[in-house]
Amino acid sequence: MVTMDDVSAAAGRIRGLVRVTPVKLSPSLSALAGGPVWLKCEQQQETGAFKLRGASNAVARLGDVAGVTTASTGNHGRALAHAARAQRLPAIICVSRLVPQNKLDAIAALGAEARIAGASQDEAFAEARRLQRDEGFALIPPFDHAEVIAGQGTLGLEILSQIPDAAAIAIPLSGGGLLSGVALAVKALRPDIRIIGISMERGAAMAASLAAGHPVEVEEVETLADSLGGGIGQKNRLTFGMVRALMDDLILLSEDEIAAGIRHLALEDGETVEGAGAVGAGAILAGKLRTDDPLVLILSGGNIDPARHAAIVRGER
Ligand SMILES: *Cc1c(COP(=O)(O)O)cnc(C)c1O
Repeated sequence: MVTMDDVSAAAGRIRGLVRVTPVKLSPSLSALAGGPVWLKCEQQQETGAFKLRGASNAVARLGDVAGVTTASTGNHGRALAHAARAQRLPAIICVSRLVPQNKLDAIAALGAEARIAGASQDEAFAEARRLQRDEGFALIPPFDHAEVIAGQGTLGLEILSQIPDAAAIAIPLSGGGLLSGVALAVKALRPDIRIIGISMERGAAMAASLAAGHPVEVEEVETLADSLGGGIGQKNRLTFGMVRALMDDLILLSEDEIAAGIRHLALEDGETVEGAGAVGAGAILAGKLRTDDPLVLILSGGNIDPARHAAIVRGER
């Protein structure tokens, strides 16, 4: 169980370890949606994504450990590496030997060790589990973890302090740590706020699991919203139930709709956002999200290859 007290405690614990990110009004998206649309610019967070909140809180809660480990090379891996260095703990990010050199360099640049183990994500994860079992490391997963969820919830508190009249919040949804934490925090203070989850049409594990009534595996396919890929875990303990209880609406977007969101945020709002972070804008542009009441879009991350971003903005996708 995760409670509002956990989120409040997390907010105190990670103050000074994460940035308070700005909010700004989007005039163009407001005109399309029907009411004021605010952009919560969490892609400006240190390490380029909100995941630093959960990782910093989880690391701060650790007792006596040899270090921290995980098997993510994406935004969670970066966040955990950064949080560990800030709190003076060794970090080992386990990767398969298929992970490209630039990602290994990025992990090293954050002061962590990239440990190559096996030829698949599963083998990398097995090495992280071995470090946990045999060497006294704490394994910090990307979403299904109480302290990670509580840390992500601090984003909800920050939104309410910056936009007190928010009526709805649109949240990129993958494993559901972000949505669970934010929804828990804002509904504790303002039960009437609508929580809208947004995923891609292709390979959305949480959407498929909600439809089935239990966690299911989906085939992983390439998507512009690469940070929203991956499963929710067959043994999901927390986020499946929390998302089911707290989410009011779910919107799914095509690849073209995600690209349109990236392009619009760059050209009209001047924000460089990765696919996962652009789904709120994409939903408004697609006519799938309309409201007269104040709406907040969480721009959850900005880690996208610059050449890829430029091509999408030029309309070459
Ligand atoms: C991880 C991530 C998400 C999804 O978060 P979950 O907690 O897995 O639902 C969304 N956007 C970005 C940029 C991310 O890195």
